Amino acid sequence: MDNQLNHKTIKQLEEKYDFGTYPKRDITLVKGKGTLVYDSEDNKYIDCSSGVGVANIGHCHPKITKTISKQSQKLITCYSIFHNDQRAKLLEKLIKIAPKPLTKAFLCNSGTESVEAAIKFARSTTGKKEIIALNQCFHGKTMGSLALTHNKKYQEPFAPIMQGVKHIPKNNIEALNESINDNTAAVIIELVQGESGVRPLNKEYVKELRQITKKHNILLIIDEVQTGFGRTGKMFTTEHYEIEPDMICTAKAIAGGLAMGATICQEKITAPKKSHTTTFGGNPLSCAAALTTIKIIQEENLIENANNIGNYLKKQLEQLNHPKIREIRGLGLMIGIQLKQRAGEYVHKLMTEQKIIALLAGPLTIRLLPPLCITKEQADKVIQAIKSILN
Ligand code: PLP
Repeated sequence: MDNQLNHKTIKQLEEKYDFGTYPKRDITLVKGKGTLVYDSEDNKYIDCSSGVGVANIGHCHPKITKTISKQSQKLITCYSIFHNDQRAKLLEKLIKIAPKPLTKAFLCNSGTESVEAAIKFARSTTGKKEIIALNQCFHGKTMGSLALTHNKKYQEPFAPIMQGVKHIPKNNIEALNESINDNTAAVIIELVQGESGVRPLNKEYVKELRQITKKHNILLIIDEVQTGFGRTGKMFTTEHYEIEPDMICTAKAIAGGLAMGATICQEKITAPKKSHTTTFGGNPLSCAAALTTIKIIQEENLIENANNIGNYLKKQLEQLNHPKIREIRGLGLMIGIQLKQRAGEYVHKLMTEQKIIALLAGPLTIRLLPPLCITKEQADKVIQAIKSILN
């Protein structure tokens, strides 16, 4: 029924009834399959956004639709005061694939919620109040994680925001040493800053930061909401950096497209019973989808493909040697193409002229987050398209 509405009508309805905080692109997406999405006029796009970092296994993977269909006929909701088979299996699996020494997880429904939980768990575990985050970081937009997110533009309309957060320059150990004190509960970092331009942190900096936080009994929270589940060529980006985190925040790709998040913790992280709960967190439908998602990532060698195609894309983009490109950055299939001018116009042209959906990361950077199942042929099309819109 919905698919019979044309783009103009759909647009009018959304413009009339949607609250209106999203800047809209002028197409209606109605269908997805693997790396591709289709609009209401049946135009086909290569989705280099993965629905903003969600569709790592591709859109509507047949094993996911089968899992969702099967589980939806068995049990969809089950509040976490009861045990559930899908949740138990997923928790075991998550801990198996998570970096050491993480041993337990709190399940929720989104990235920002996984960060909210980490803030609360850091304060409740340490009894301390302050959290240090990095300049240009993005950790979400609900009131707790908004205080961590560095962009003042997102904070100002909603002041006063949560107190107790300090921002420091990244890759700068001196700034870290100067900012910690007896009241520092945790440091939170994205190993590859996504929203602000696809910027991997220096490995030496992260290793030293871990040593310093350990020495001062400060918790280290790694925000892997965007970088987790194979995106950067490891199951978790923490593996690239060879460190032991106290908590990892995840979401986006975890459940093959369904809403889910998880804060994965070391054993020592605690919070009192009933102090942090959520109605939908750990529901059997999302848990079943997440179990299948992890299985697909492993069985279809998607992490290997993220490495291979990611390296190929980066190399080809570098070889363009284009005068408008300042720098190519990234890890695996999380790639930033920083231009010497604003990138918005080029992201728009990619979509309208080349039928490639890409994202912006900061004002100057085109961000590519394609599904991890993208083929070499599709990657070649993306490179040609980028070349063509830049010329
Ligand atoms: N943390 C990071 C690193 C993110 O990239 C995002 C979203 O883009 C979030 C947190 C917030 O996730 P969500 O939009 O699911 O609340």
